Amino acid sequence: MIDSTSAVIPWHCPSCSRPHQQRQFDFSLSWKDTPFDIFRCICGMLYSSYALRHEAPDIYDLNYYNSERYRNTNARQAYIQHIAAHMEQALTNHPVAGRKLLDIGCATGDFVSWASAAGWEAEGVDISEDAVAEGCARGLPLRQQDLTGLPTEGHRYDVVTAWDLLEHLPDMSLLLSVARSILTPQGVLVLKTVSSESIIESLARLLLRASAGRLQTPLQRIYVPGHLYYFTPQALQQFLHRHQWEILLLNQADTPSSALSSSRITQLGLDTVFSVQKRLARCYELVVACRPK
Ligand SMILES: [Zn+2]
Repeated sequence: MIDSTSAVIPWHCPSCSRPHQQRQFDFSLSWKDTPFDIFRCICGMLYSSYALRHEAPDIYDLNYYNSERYRNTNARQAYIQHIAAHMEQALTNHPVAGRKLLDIGCATGDFVSWASAAGWEAEGVDISEDAVAEGCARGLPLRQQDLTGLPTEGHRYDVVTAWDLLEHLPDMSLLLSVARSILTPQGVLVLKTVSSESIIESLARLLLRASAGRLQTPLQRIYVPGHLYYFTPQALQQFLHRHQWEILLLNQADTPSSALSSSRITQLGLDTVFSVQKRLARCYELVVACRPK
């Protein structure tokens, strides 16, 4: 068994900057026989031992984009409509001057495709060569590039989107500094990330306790190795304020069940949980629109 925290380097919470860390569970999760742990900061933010080591697990191969969700056209469309609605809501209240949009972490380019059809001059970048190649084969303007390869000057985009990206980045501040450098003066960054306070996470923990630690699968579905960080709404606000961003919108949201499963029974179960999450403001996702101060 590898000690998942052996390479931990000096750590300060990205949200509150405290050095505090406490294990969330008294057991390790694992990915491909490699254990990793989840830690909690006193501010409520969660992060994995990959974050403590400032590295991302090597998972973004072709298999990552071959999951049922990526292969199911209806699920993909439902998901794109979901994220597009949040962006449109933000821009209705905080309009931008032009129509240039960059989607960072664009995967195979579904959102770029939607944005182009909606009248945006849209482009996408992603770290995955396979995903970008698939999108380019569909005629989409995508480039394979990581964040460090993006320009650090030239205010050229009215909107930058980063759907489900922030929580995957070992250095989340890099996304903010890159977005700041490429947004027009009134430009808006819209991003979606995961929350640490969802009801579905509480249910998974309850199942774990009720089964005396045996039923770990639901928690393993929530704490996936690719997610390095989990915010509370307050921790996300604090993180953005620390980096001098003005928050224009902060929504709690859940991906439509039809985008998560094709089973009608699973969809009904998810719909029930999601309606409770919505009522209690403890959804699985946080969507934020913000602008550099
Ligand atoms: Zn903290």
